[in-house]
Amino acid sequence: GGPATLREFVEATWAFGERPFLVAESRTYTYAEFFAAACGLARRLTDTYGLRPGDRAVVAMRNHPEWQIAFWAAQLAGLVAVPLNAWWTEDEFAYALDDCAPRVLLVDGERLPRVRDWARAHHVPGIVFHPGGGTPGDGTPGDGTPGDDTPAGAPLGEGFTVYEPDTDPTLGPPPVDVLPEHDATIVYTSGTTGRPKGAVATHRAQTGAALNPRYHAAVSALLRGRIPGQGPAPVSLVTFPFFHVAAFTALYPVMAAGGTVVVMHKWDAERAVELIERHRVTHYAGVPTTALQLVDLVERRGWAHRLAGLGHFNTGGAAAPPGLVGRLTALLGEHVEPRNGYGLTETCGGVLANFGAEYRAHPHSVGRPAPAAEVRIADPDASGVGELWLRGQCLARGYWRDEAATRAAFTDDGWFRTGDLATYEDGRVTIVDRIKDMVIRGGENVYCVEVEGALHDHPDVADAAVLGVPHPTLGEEVAAVVVLRDGATAGPGDLRAHVGRSLAAFKVPSRVLVRDVPLPRNAAGKVLKRELGALFAGSSR
Ligand code: ATP
Repeated sequence: GGPATLREFVEATWAFGERPFLVAESRTYTYAEFFAAACGLARRLTDTYGLRPGDRAVVAMRNHPEWQIAFWAAQLAGLVAVPLNAWWTEDEFAYALDDCAPRVLLVDGERLPRVRDWARAHHVPGIVFHPGGGTPGDGTPGDGTPGDDTPAGAPLGEGFTVYEPDTDPTLGPPPVDVLPEHDATIVYTSGTTGRPKGAVATHRAQTGAALNPRYHAAVSALLRGRIPGQGPAPVSLVTFPFFHVAAFTALYPVMAAGGTVVVMHKWDAERAVELIERHRVTHYAGVPTTALQLVDLVERRGWAHRLAGLGHFNTGGAAAPPGLVGRLTALLGEHVEPRNGYGLTETCGGVLANFGAEYRAHPHSVGRPAPAAEVRIADPDASGVGELWLRGQCLARGYWRDEAATRAAFTDDGWFRTGDLATYEDGRVTIVDRIKDMVIRGGENVYCVEVEGALHDHPDVADAAVLGVPHPTLGEEVAAVVVLRDGATAGPGDLRAHVGRSLAAFKVPSRVLVRDVPLPRNAAGKVLKRELGALFAGSSR
């Protein structure tokens, strides 16, 4: 067998030596440099900080290459890595820090002010990466980090030291035993539908997840214990935040193949085009929102030639509008393989995928399960819609210190209840809606995803969200918030008429709000519907 733990997985990548691994605005790390730095940090964590296997190490940074060094150092030291959402406020950090009780904080300069008080109160030390906040810029637009709140040279606070890379390649990782059944990660759910919950995954689950993107032969080769040869390696622009499981799904196959990850510390569509062109990027990976912005920009400017090197276009993390794949094909051609991946924090990332010709033919579907995963639709209704359950090696073992939530979501015979409504036909899963998002209008179920898809089909629509709002007699009615493309003029009446042409009247939003500010979205690209609900509170039609 191949690697059974993340420690073994990352040790195997050392063989890629001088190939570039992380290419960022600040600097590039080859595999050898990366591995030496991760080993150095791992030894510092065990020797200087006295951490022992099972201790939690929090990683909270924007997408810096050092995020990866911190995460993999924790794996090499046998620690449980806890990646936290870099967008969180001080209170949100405090909630998760209280919950997971880490013994060290690996943070960047921007996160420091948000965790410092908690660290002082709990006597937890920390290491600060990029203490000046930003990355050394190269003067291009979208570069630099405005809002940096820790000027270089400012006192860090008690217990914090600045990261100093230890790059002696002769010293390996610390000698600790890491077993497949040990916990490797605690990743918090997005908290879209409630408080974030810490999903705990063992090394067995994470290496299982690494195998899920089965369509990358390199992963299976690595997991069988063979380092692939020196063939052309993927160059992947990963625009997912590193703390989200979608980024893991994007990174594992690249690392297994000795490929390159182009790192963006801040999303900017124009900058993404520059990076794709400059680094001859072969794989794009991001949430549907950034993917749509990229496609929009390239369509408007006629820049398709600048994306000529792309062979794969991957989205995941949230529902992609069904129209996206057609636009992508028209723009870049049939040789670019589109891919829509579905997964959750609890499945350690992507577990279903729709790609290539099948995705073009079935743009509403999230495709087929990875070979190691099983799918079941629980209690389907007459039209085959029921809750999607998943089973397989990649599942988290439960929620951190939350027996009740664990028992509610994980069954005794190994199934995980996703909370998503779906159908399963001809081997393909189609997500209908999240159970908590579904609108029940006078007893009729309205699936937001379907109405959002219809709105997205209107040429004037840049973004759209559908939600239920309270109604005195119907219980709930269907409401929509729509953002138009630059210069577009469609009004609520046009949009309602457009939806009414493809969907039944009870699904047509009775209230449509056209706004010129972007929809509030979380790091996974999901619309924060609770915030939008407030827009409809009080006012009448
Ligand atoms: P919480 O459970 O705290 O509300 P969350 O479930 O939003 O958080 P994630 O694990 O990031 O946190 O999201 C998983 C959910 O994302 C899935 O249940 C599904 O609703 C949605 N999702 C992910 N990928 C896709 C996709 N390709 N198509 C449709 N929906 C997707």
